[in-house]
Amino acid sequence: MKLDLIKAAFDKWIPRLGLAWWTIEICHYDDPYEIIQRFRTIETGEMVPATVTAQWMYADARININLPAFEFIDDDNIERVIVHELCHLLINEMRETDIHHEERVVTWLTKAFFWVADAVKEDFVKADSMRADKKYDR
Ligand SMILES: [Zn+2]
Repeated sequence: MKLDLIKAAFDKWIPRLGLAWWTIEICHYDDPYEIIQRFRTIETGEMVPATVTAQWMYADARININLPAFEFIDDDNIERVIVHELCHLLINEMRETDIHHEERVVTWLTKAFFWVADAVKEDFVKADSMRADKKYDR
């Protein structure tokens, strides 16, 4: 179920990104009227899967989740969407007149975190295969 994956991603990434000390309210929406009110972008009319409002000076945030939108997101990408939203908390104090610079930085931070996670995974695989090779050298 998508909601389980969403919750698992928050549980995994909130502490990893150093956000355990924040107060983060996570709200899920599935009512069509509320979804249109909360998740339609003003500029393009596009629907987004999640929104964030944060007060960085108080380490306080609210993340709104558009549940029906997640039905169209691959399981593998759910975690990326959640990390993207959490990255907004990391750099929320950069927000000034509009969100465009914050969006670009958050998108690249999300990619960077996953590149690091992939690299760590690769190193473990290499280390395991080196250990396995040593066993058979005897
Ligand atoms: Zn964003």
